[in-house]
Amino acid sequence: MNPGFKKMWANRIQNLPPYLFAEIDRQKQELLQKGVDVIDLGVGDPDRPTPAFIIEALQRAAEDPKNHIYPSYSGMNSFREVAAQWCQRRFGVKLDSEREVITLIGSKEGIAHFPLGFINPGDLVLVPDPAYPVYSVATQFAGGRVYAMPLKKENGFLPDLEQIPKKVADEAKLLFLNYPNNPTSAVANREYFEEVVDFAKRHQIIVCHDAAYSEIYFDGERPPSFLEIPGAKEVGIEFHSLSKTFNMTGWRIGFATGHPDLIAALGKIKTNIDSGVFQAVQWAGIAALQSDGRCVEGMRGLYQKRRDVLAGELQRLGLDVYWPKASFYLWIGVPKKFDSMSFAALLLKEASIVATPGIGFGPSGEGYIRMTFTCEVDRLQEAVDRIQRLGHL
Ligand SMILES: *Cc1c(COP(=O)(O)O)cnc(C)c1O
Repeated sequence: MNPGFKKMWANRIQNLPPYLFAEIDRQKQELLQKGVDVIDLGVGDPDRPTPAFIIEALQRAAEDPKNHIYPSYSGMNSFREVAAQWCQRRFGVKLDSEREVITLIGSKEGIAHFPLGFINPGDLVLVPDPAYPVYSVATQFAGGRVYAMPLKKENGFLPDLEQIPKKVADEAKLLFLNYPNNPTSAVANREYFEEVVDFAKRHQIIVCHDAAYSEIYFDGERPPSFLEIPGAKEVGIEFHSLSKTFNMTGWRIGFATGHPDLIAALGKIKTNIDSGVFQAVQWAGIAALQSDGRCVEGMRGLYQKRRDVLAGELQRLGLDVYWPKASFYLWIGVPKKFDSMSFAALLLKEASIVATPGIGFGPSGEGYIRMTFTCEVDRLQEAVDRIQRLGHL
């Protein structure tokens, strides 16, 4: 590569936060090369294949030349209608599929582009800490400033809106939330969302709710949608994903729902950047969203069994485990003599287990590690046995 090019990188990528996991990635690769049996509880990617009926819908649609053209920018009408019907069935949320739903190339794409529609240089955005990194990076790409809202265990990992100074709240333009939450696995109830609607109205803030894990819940307790709260549609947008629900992370399809003016702004950005989702993938998405939900029920049962093994056994070993009611993540307080980096390093070095240091999700993730349960129970049990053998916890 031309040695000058790195110096020519724009500030927006020069200034990206350092990639904290580089050293862990390097050590993991080294162990794999030595033939060590590494248990990777780091990546949050469903391990089971996409259900066959979804793949078949893609195959049929891919063969039809009508689907080979540029798709519509905002998504096929039929996909948006089915997405709206799904929101009505699942959450009781009524949506106008033409004005209040937009197809996304995965929810990450919509989340990353949304701030470009609202944030001018210097504008303030409220972002949870720890969090999925896209909220703050997308804010910075748009020239905005991040105000971090710490997620604390004593508040159930929900931002304490009362703690946000009035001046900051009045100045802020956007507020990002994500429940069920990655990385903490916390769930928000309706009462909390009601507080958020009230806060957003008082301070004229747009709420961006990331609902990627709305369908990965346990014990039959279905997490609410932000939009099912009265008044929420006047203040917010919600990002939905088919990735985690239907084991479709590689397919790149999701959708956003919310106030028509918010959807329209996102649409304006997208029209000038991408050209929509391959129609065959949207047909596969239609098959997924229209299905009776048995495949999702099956996955929930599977994740719940895995949760019970990993969370239950680690708790028995004396680790400080936050019991997940949703998502496929375990948020674990590290033992006293460690911080999040050194505990993750110990697990890798002494037990060949990959876990993600909490600090990688923001400063308030210090003191925690995240483990995923997207692998089979026997692997989770093996991980527990290795941790038990470490002893000195
Ligand atoms: C996985 C994930 C997403 C991205 O989902 P895609 O639809 O695959 O882009 C969004 N938000 C959170 C919190 C996630 O963990």
